[in-house]
Amino acid sequence: MPHVITQSCCSDGSCVYACPVNCIHPSPDEPGFATTEMLFIDPDACVDCGACVSACPVGAISPDTKLTENQLPFVELNAAFYPKREGKLPPTSKLAPVLPAPMIESRGGPLRVAIVGSGPAAMYAADELLTQRGVWVNVFEKLPTPYGLVRAGVAPDHQSTKRVTRLFDRVSEHAGFTAFLNVEVGKHLSHAELLEHHHAVLYAVGAPNDRRLDIEGMGLPGSVTATEVVAWFNGHPDFADLALDLGHERVVIIGNGNVALDVARILTSDPDALARTDIADHALAALRSSKVREVVVAARRGPEFSAFTLPELIGLTAACEVVLDAADHQRVTADLATVADRLTRNKLEILAKLGDASAPITRPRIRLAYQLTPRRLLGEDRISGIEFTDGATLDAGLVATSIGYRGKAIADLPFDEVAGVVPNDGGRVRDSAGAYVAGWIKRGPTGFIGTNKSCAAETVHRLVEDYNQGRLGDPAHKPAALDRLVRSRQPAVVDAAGWRAIDAAEIARGGGQRPRGKFVDIAEMLAVAATAPRPPAHKRLLAGLRR
Ligand code: NAP
Repeated sequence: MPHVITQSCCSDGSCVYACPVNCIHPSPDEPGFATTEMLFIDPDACVDCGACVSACPVGAISPDTKLTENQLPFVELNAAFYPKREGKLPPTSKLAPVLPAPMIESRGGPLRVAIVGSGPAAMYAADELLTQRGVWVNVFEKLPTPYGLVRAGVAPDHQSTKRVTRLFDRVSEHAGFTAFLNVEVGKHLSHAELLEHHHAVLYAVGAPNDRRLDIEGMGLPGSVTATEVVAWFNGHPDFADLALDLGHERVVIIGNGNVALDVARILTSDPDALARTDIADHALAALRSSKVREVVVAARRGPEFSAFTLPELIGLTAACEVVLDAADHQRVTADLATVADRLTRNKLEILAKLGDASAPITRPRIRLAYQLTPRRLLGEDRISGIEFTDGATLDAGLVATSIGYRGKAIADLPFDEVAGVVPNDGGRVRDSAGAYVAGWIKRGPTGFIGTNKSCAAETVHRLVEDYNQGRLGDPAHKPAALDRLVRSRQPAVVDAAGWRAIDAAEIARGGGQRPRGKFVDIAEMLAVAATAPRPPAHKRLLAGLRR
């Protein structure tokens, strides 16, 4: 009865180090780790101890006897990663790299690090830093709610992926961790000010912009970006008012990465099923009156180059009706005759079994379409369709581009305009002593939530090395001065107690029927945060001094 890794694998590698027989690969130190679509358990080497189950932050691992029917394809997928052989391998083990201890005694006090952002890269960096004593981490987040794309990016029907927030909650309860939510670095505080209060500033701000498709008609009502749609259905306060017209039968999505699949799935899912998730109320209401019958996911290249991952394709075909038209079925067959790569073949084999688009539409469906490069959006005052470079056209009331995220320049740091990242060496920002980056702003917008664990660890190891080598200047101010500075600039700062109050109120709004009912209005969030019980000011000051 071996264990099996399934769709929500976040690739953070915790399971690798928990496994006593080293049967989970690729591991973070192996070459394939950076590009793998998931991790795989070797069924011949697994001793069925379940240590990986406890280590996995997203509940992606189960014994093979406990899989749901939809998860059964993952049995073969895990096994196929390993060559066939006779007998068990001798057990080995893999130890997680350990952060060097910061030499706080010789530096006369704790290592003080500011982390900007509170998404996965930020929280994994905080987790890594706080494995050592004598480290204080202050996290600064623009919104009153933490966890970045886990809250505002992961699709609401992927609740098991969102379970990683339990790990982040545990990190935030560490005595060395302080949250400054609703505080925007660059507006309320500058980079130079943060450096005056810390040894180092680590930016984990993600890639907040979209890559823009520069074709005629973009910007007309009815044209949106997929990332805006994702933020809208996830209740991000800045996108709650997005004018999303679902009053037409067809939506076209440009690009076929995992974000495109997320949007297509949500737009075609049964609203009653979505009502059991934490989807934003405004989105659920709009989806209940949606007229959309077909979402076409249009890729500019052929099936072999589909950008979505195999686990997501398996999940999509289990949850939704997905079809191909006859020409695309032929393309899949042609690719199967030439493609050797195992994972790509797996994808093609699933595509080959999809139904035909000529069948009548009985419920909202997704059509995966290939060799369609967009030329222009059609329509005068609003979108009425899209024309591709081969002259083909599709009627559509909504066109969403889903061609990737893009990083945004950070004030006072260098920026690579082409790659959309802050230039860095293993996380050390070039020519900027004391500045570090982790996550998408460091390596570009690729990978999964857990990919940020090893990415953040690399940065943190560099940071501690610099601290121990005396390359970081000491903060100019005492720790308590930071709290005063932040409150003078942003009196509505939300602390950990405030977030816990928002969290509890959202869970209560879920009424036991859904994981939570999200607030989307910042004023409402702040009002709830203000109800949090907290010690009087003088006790807070004392706690800060003692910290
Ligand atoms: P992505 O995987 O990079 O896909 C981008 C898509 O846009 C590709 O199909 C690409 O086609 C297409 N594209 C790029 N430029 C184009 C152009 N000018 N015209 C037409 N098409 C164009 O990006 P993503 O979907 O935004 O995902 C970002 C990352 O987040 C990925 O690593 C993804 O796996 C991850 N993610 C994971 C999950 C999950 O695990 N559930 C969910 C969401 C996101 P070409 O290949 O032809 O360039």
